[in-house]
Amino acid sequence: MTNSKGQLNLHTKVLAAIFLAATAASQPAQNSEPTQVASPPVLLITVDTLRADRLGCYGAKRVKTPAMDRLAAQGIRFDPALAQVPITLPSHVVILSGTYPMTNGVRDFTSSGIPPSVGLISEAFERQGFATAAFVSAFVLDATWGFRRGFQVYDDHFDPRQFETENPGNIQRRGAETVDRLLTWLRGRPTGKPFFVWLHLYDPHSPYDPPEPFRHEYAGHLYDGEVAYTDTQLGRVFGYLRDQGIYDRMWIVLLSDHGESLGEHGEDEHGFFIYNSTLRVPLIFKPPQGAALPHVVEGPVGTIDVAPTLFDLLRFQDPLRRQFQGRSLASLVLGKGAAQARGVYSETYYPRDSFGWSALRSISTRRFHFILAPRPELYDVGADPAERRDLYAQRSAEAAALRDQLSDLERRYAGPAPSAAGPPLSAETLEKLKSLGYVAYSAPAAQGEDSSLPDPKDRLKVFKSILRATDLASAGRLDESNALLRIVAVQEPKLYLAPFLLGENAARARHWEEAQHQFLACLKLNPTFEQAIMGLARADLAEGKAQDARPWLELALHQNSHNFLAYYGLGLVARQEHRDEDARRYFQSAAHEKPNYAPAQQELGIVLVELRRYGEALGPLEQAAKFGPPNPVLANYLGTAYANTDQLGRAIQSYQTALSLKEDYAAARLNLAFAYLKSGERSRAGREFRTVCRQDEKLCQEFRSQFE
Ligand SMILES: [Zn+2]
Repeated sequence: MTNSKGQLNLHTKVLAAIFLAATAASQPAQNSEPTQVASPPVLLITVDTLRADRLGCYGAKRVKTPAMDRLAAQGIRFDPALAQVPITLPSHVVILSGTYPMTNGVRDFTSSGIPPSVGLISEAFERQGFATAAFVSAFVLDATWGFRRGFQVYDDHFDPRQFETENPGNIQRRGAETVDRLLTWLRGRPTGKPFFVWLHLYDPHSPYDPPEPFRHEYAGHLYDGEVAYTDTQLGRVFGYLRDQGIYDRMWIVLLSDHGESLGEHGEDEHGFFIYNSTLRVPLIFKPPQGAALPHVVEGPVGTIDVAPTLFDLLRFQDPLRRQFQGRSLASLVLGKGAAQARGVYSETYYPRDSFGWSALRSISTRRFHFILAPRPELYDVGADPAERRDLYAQRSAEAAALRDQLSDLERRYAGPAPSAAGPPLSAETLEKLKSLGYVAYSAPAAQGEDSSLPDPKDRLKVFKSILRATDLASAGRLDESNALLRIVAVQEPKLYLAPFLLGENAARARHWEEAQHQFLACLKLNPTFEQAIMGLARADLAEGKAQDARPWLELALHQNSHNFLAYYGLGLVARQEHRDEDARRYFQSAAHEKPNYAPAQQELGIVLVELRRYGEALGPLEQAAKFGPPNPVLANYLGTAYANTDQLGRAIQSYQTALSLKEDYAAARLNLAFAYLKSGERSRAGREFRTVCRQDEKLCQEFRSQFE
């Protein structure tokens, strides 16, 4: 295992060049002078799934939220504020881009991420000279979906073991962990410029499992316990900012992406309906001291208004402004203007795109909430905030006027959906996909007017069966889950989620053939559903059919060029086919898309060691050690990379780590023996080699001569 110094230097240079290129790309654009010399720092907080009425400042009685209440008492609180779409991914795209889903194309779970043509406020903050960082708590907001743009740090690290056992949609981390990462960044942040930080906390999202003492204190209403827990985490953030003297001179904006139905209207969680239980969210602006007096502004306003408001408050002259479709609330925040009554748009396309039923769209005014559905609804939210009495039949004139408003808005903003598609597919790949049973194209399930489609209100039972089936599957009760899903599949033959979930259950049980059958059935109904495409690749890889996995992974990348798991899978395929240079390239892409995904960094490092590019291997292997769980194979390869870059002390340490994790790891022990030999410790080398001989006769015979 010799190493050529020349090669090492060359590759270190290449690595440095890549690193410099990446740094250059994240620098502010040239000639963009910060518009304000002393801009205040900005913290944007989105607490996922947070109902406004669970905060003390919005009238909650039985939930303790002192940190958020204090923020509101020092700030400007909007009531009501409404989400434009009650689903995590599209709602955050609305908040961070200031555009409607009908314009940005990100409408529900089936989206492939943010199209490159849609700008994010993070990019503008970077152009304006801010240090930018994001700390998110759920895979739903992973960099995979295109959120990393403009953020110099995008912290979306999740325990990689979750990717093996969980549907990626369920992967998350607790608030304490995310807040720890944020505080670490704040302590070491770049000095001499203001910062823009986005903090996302996910705890109030189901399942509701707050830690003690909240679990005990909120027994019987654990959702509230999650809210209270989240508040204590925010208290840590605010406490730190106060201690550092930053709090008083910064803007803090706190809101949620949507509420939670908690059984109202028959919906348990969010996304399926667009009643106020899931649309109403808190919205608080905490100004720098002296910038504005605390007060409450009567709504309704939308979360789409946050971006233009921030830009006005900070006096940003940035080209991103041209994209905004919300209304600036800056004069209301500063107490300089009266609120203008206007309708606020909301939608959910989840029933349509995932179930083939009608989409729901709505307009909210101060008094009414009009919901356009096959059977439209109208609520007098002033008199009936819980939306229990549908007045559509009685108040047809008001309903008609609101329907016109809705149509106007849709005419103004709807356009051809921009695409986030990746590289085109080769004819060969398309041919292979066809031979594997893939139908390359079929028309979207439904388009245009939805009046002929089933009303989601009339399909609530089927929807709840699906949710029940996923709960049963999570609890390991696969047979019961499958039985329920088979009934749904018969009742709703166009519903692609039924075969998809049957496929997921089969994959859980490692029945790969059945999983493939179901995922293919799913793709017949929805040919672009990324999770089913990845499911097929996963099944092929599990069965050792790398050849078959490849076209699926290429298709997944075609759908979404940021899909790090697809790059990672292609790397594994290339490894199985002994195409090490291809494997290196794919693992490199996976690590580039998601630097904190330890398995990709580990495989990249291992391939580089095997290609004898030891100097280059060090970085990825060290990243893997930083972000992944302790792993003997990783420690062994890290040892080899150190041993071949003249770092024998570290090499010995790494081999010892490998052996502490796996005592009978003969290859690592042999490496340790060699490292001792190289550092002149012959007796130690001999002792380790004798242990190798007791454990592995073949290694013993092969290397005996070198230790005699
Ligand atoms: Zn959410």
